[in-house]
Amino acid sequence: MRVDGVIDMSCPSVDAAARLAEWSSRGPRYTSYPSATELGPISIPSVLHTLRQIGRASDPVSLYVHIPFCRSLCAYCGCNVIPTRDVSRGPGYVDHIATELAVLAGPRFAAPISEIALGGGSPNFLEPEAMRVLIRAIEHTFEVLPDARRSIELDPRSTTDAQVDALAALGFRSLSVGVQDFDKSVQDAIRRHQSTVQTRRLVERARAAGFTDLNLDIVYGLPRQTETSFTQTLEAVIDLAPDRVALFGYAHLPDRLPHQRLVERAGRVLDRYERATLLLLAIERFTTAGYVHLGLDHFARPGSRLARAAAARRMVRTFQGYIERAAETVLGVGTSAISSTPTMIWQNHTDLPAWQTAIASGRLPIARGLVLDDDDRARAAVIGGLMCDGEVDLGTLAARFGIDPDTYFARELTELRQLSELASYDAATRTIQTTADGRLLVRNVCMVFDRYLKPDSARHSSTI
Ligand code: SF4
Repeated sequence: MRVDGVIDMSCPSVDAAARLAEWSSRGPRYTSYPSATELGPISIPSVLHTLRQIGRASDPVSLYVHIPFCRSLCAYCGCNVIPTRDVSRGPGYVDHIATELAVLAGPRFAAPISEIALGGGSPNFLEPEAMRVLIRAIEHTFEVLPDARRSIELDPRSTTDAQVDALAALGFRSLSVGVQDFDKSVQDAIRRHQSTVQTRRLVERARAAGFTDLNLDIVYGLPRQTETSFTQTLEAVIDLAPDRVALFGYAHLPDRLPHQRLVERAGRVLDRYERATLLLLAIERFTTAGYVHLGLDHFARPGSRLARAAAARRMVRTFQGYIERAAETVLGVGTSAISSTPTMIWQNHTDLPAWQTAIASGRLPIARGLVLDDDDRARAAVIGGLMCDGEVDLGTLAARFGIDPDTYFARELTELRQLSELASYDAATRTIQTTADGRLLVRNVCMVFDRYLKPDSARHSSTI
């Protein structure tokens, strides 16, 4: 065990941590392929054309609404956030969202909505009445299916009972709560103070109000985390009996996110070996507690929606992490929101005034995007299979994309042989299979198939 910064080499997980540290590098998180970092100039008429096609079909669509406001900025944050305590900004923001929905849908959008997801930022920045106005605007603009999944991220430090009750009355049943770490010293370092009592109170209130699906987010790799302190956080998380846990590696990118310099000032950012040690510790604790390890870094109760979706190979990796597939198309509204269709990805303006100005003049508030070709879709299928299932049958691509995978991916399959500790290719079954280590370093395996990857990887986070 690591005690006061000393690693005990007799611990059996030391070898595994050393191997993971040695093989890890920096790379995309593959919450989409191509990664959002590859988006560039895009023609708005081509997006409008895509929207009209989606709207004419009967395939369901997921709707993501980004609420960018937070009452304070956590030092480790990697999201698109506007720190403010002025909650009177909420209703005006919702008015702009309502207009954006109308512009997005146009006059004849018939595709039904199978999921409404509210993320941020802190969606609970919206007071109950603003939240009701937002949901009414969505239901007025689109046909929302009766069984549509309604999910929201809530901050236990600022969510009121009235908000929880209002959300339950609006049909929300899925809840995601950020924990990150319960240790006081770590919380000092990341400037986010949240007690177990606050968190438990929100969880119990939400359950009493009718929420049935609880996810907790935790983060490894933060300064001041030790095996002892992280074990206590893991035990406290398990004690809250979440249906799902998302375990994220801290993405320290201070050149892109200057406020993360505050994290550095508070303590040394953990190295790859220490990160691997904490990751292995969390896997051991959650699986011992009966959770199923899904994909790279999620855990779910056996029989939960996500565990069932994973077993049926319906789990997908998105900007929100691993979720059960609700639709092929995700439409994102709000600042910085990303939309993803089988033929195109685009992102809204991150800058609030630019987003507002576009909407006020009846334009889609899109900043950048990418038109996908067959090569993108074939590689996305490979990367998605690896990220979600740890394996992919290249044979299925032959029929779907009209390619001979052995020829088409000849370079990649040769390169894969250099990563035999992480993955192997069985030419007889045409299946790529990750090893136990490769499952945790699956981003490295995916990087082999990423045609956009550039040698300069400083803009990406650690793959462990
Ligand atoms: S509450 Fe979440 S989104 Fe807001 S600043 Fe903290 S980490 Fe970022």
